[in-house]
This record gives sequence, structure tokens and C-alpha cells, in this order.
Amino acid sequence: MKIKAAVLREINKGYSLEELELDPPKEGEALVKYAYTGFCHSDLSNTKGFITMKLPMVAGHEAAGVVVEVGPGVTRVKPGDHVASAWMCPCGDCPECRKGLGNICSGTFPQFVGGTMLDGTSRMRDAKGEVVLHGNFVSGFSDYTVVPEGSLIPVPKDFPLQWAALMSCCVPTGWGTVTKLANVQPGDSVAVWGLGGVGQNALRAAKMRQANPLIAVDLEEARREKAMKLGATHFINNSKEDPVPIIQELTKGGVDVIIECSGDPGATVQAYWALRPSGKLMQVGIMGEHEVAALPLTVLVFGQRAIIGGLYGSISTKDDIPKYVEIAKSGDMMLDTIIEGYFTFEEINEIREKMERRELNGRWVCKWD
Ligand SMILES: [Zn+2]
Ligand SMILES: [Zn+2]
Repeated sequence: MKIKAAVLREINKGYSLEELELDPPKEGEALVKYAYTGFCHSDLSNTKGFITMKLPMVAGHEAAGVVVEVGPGVTRVKPGDHVASAWMCPCGDCPECRKGLGNICSGTFPQFVGGTMLDGTSRMRDAKGEVVLHGNFVSGFSDYTVVPEGSLIPVPKDFPLQWAALMSCCVPTGWGTVTKLANVQPGDSVAVWGLGGVGQNALRAAKMRQANPLIAVDLEEARREKAMKLGATHFINNSKEDPVPIIQELTKGGVDVIIECSGDPGATVQAYWALRPSGKLMQVGIMGEHEVAALPLTVLVFGQRAIIGGLYGSISTKDDIPKYVEIAKSGDMMLDTIIEGYFTFEEINEIREKMERRELNGRWVCKWD
């Protein structure tokens, strides 16, 4: 069938909007019609070549929609089901999966970066008949796509599909990092660097965990109001002020937990110096593969501090996303506040450029027809 898709062909060039040919789902796969796809900061990083991916590919990894058709052997979903597409498809059998860490599954990592279905092939071809790859199993910037069953998380039919899209990336990454990986406790002091979709969810999760003080740090003054609305007790504009002495003073020696979501090595250096003894710095923002941050390591030893990398909030997509759906239904996630606006497929390059200029102050979501 013919589909509409935003294809990433070259880095730093934006997307090429194309009509592609999509093959039907094979064994263990489903055809999904997307309703909404969020534009994540990692999508911008992809277009800049920060994350090595094979091209050309249909990017977008934060999407939800309705199952149209299933291939042989599919049991988890059926036509008509509403689903969020997770960007990890845990194999269940690699050493990481056996440790309960399907979010860093090594069994399906080659397909994750290679842009294929689990059998190593793609279902998409362009007008010239050339193969176009799948972005992280999700291929969210297309109106229809094929997804491996293991990536599909059913959501209730009365659950808003725009919220379901956020269940693919920014909600589990933000909430999982705070509640699972960092395991923030009531009264812990927490700071969040970088208030994109993930940072805003992390802020909200920390608020629900009764973090105090809860400090938001961002380069954009325009994000102050949103941060306070989501529950921050303080906002520091780090394009104007050095947050380190302010945080040291406010917390009498540094914060217990920092969630670094900006992916800027300079932010990581700031965050490092704002950490109290026994504090934990969770590195969630993705930097360019060759970027480094100069950090004196004795500071870690004398104070027993830790830097921990976090991918996908250390969640089990199958077990944790349904729990986040329940929290979202209660209203505690404030997803309609986190979503700043909607765009059409044709506007995707404009949204990418606005994100690069840091003009977006919340999640922007593509609404499909
Ligand atoms: Zn993302
Ligand atoms: Zn695995």
C-alpha cells in the first residue's frame, strides 16, 4: 500500500516528505495506522547525526494509533486495538533481558540501529524501488507502518491517543528515570536540567514523589511558567545565571538527585558540581557520540557520588507503560499541559527547525488524518 512518510536521507538536511510503498506485515508483525506522533529531542539529534542510524529511514519513535491488520502468529494485538509503539522490542532471551533490562536489550539491538524488522529486512521502498529503513521499530513519521508485535503496547480505547503517543518515549523516559532508576523518595532534593518533553515528565514524576526542593534548570526563560505549573519549587535560567552556587545555597550542599535531560556536555558539568555527597546524576540527554565532559573524578570518590546513564527510564515497556496509562488517567501527569501544540505532516521540517532554535516549550505532536 502507499503511505506518507518523512524520510531522513542525509544528516543536517531535514526530512524528505515522500510517498512510499509499504508491504503487508509478516509473521509476528502488525500494520498500524498512526493517529499521533510526538516530535522528540532525539529526533532532532538523529537529524544532526548525533545518534548513528542507517539511512534512509523513516524516523519518529513516539507514536500511537490503531492496529489495522496482523501477520501470522500475532497474539498480543488484534485489528481495532489501540496501541502505543515502543522503540525497544526486547528479545526476552539476551543477558540483559534475563536481568529484567529489556530497555537495553542486546538481542534486538542490531535491528534497532539497523532499521529493520526482527528478520533483518524492511517493509518499505521508495518511488525508485530502493529500501527505506524503519526508525527504531516505530517509524513514527508515517501515516501507516508495520511494527513488530513485541513493540506494541495495547492501551484502552477510551484513552486519548495523543497521550498514548507520549507513552512511547517522553513519559516512560521521564517517569521511569525518576521512579525506577533514581528511585526518588519523599523529601529528596531533585533538579532537572533541560525542560523538553522528557524533562517536563521527569519534573512531574519528581513532584508526585514529593521531591523538595524541586529545581528546574533551563536556558529558556519562556519555560519558567510551565516549570512552575508542573510543580517546580524553583526555576533557574542557566543562560543568565550559574545554577551551581544557587543550588548549593538553596540545598545547603547540593541536590540528592539530578536528571540531566538536555544532552549538552556543559549542562552535565554544571549538574556534576551541583550534586551533594551521595547524590546521583542521571544522564538521560543524548550527546553527540564524540562529545566529552571534563569531570574531576575524585569528586565522585570523596562523597560517594554517582553518575548513571539512563535509557528509556529503565522500564519494562510491557509492564510499566500500562501503569503510566493509569497515572495519566488520574490527571497527575498533566499531559495536556506538557503537550504544547499539534502540527501536520507537512509542517514537520518547520517543527524540527523550531526545536533546534529552542522555540518549543513543550511537546509538539503530529496529528495524522
Ligand atoms: Zn524520544
Ligand atoms: Zn534481549
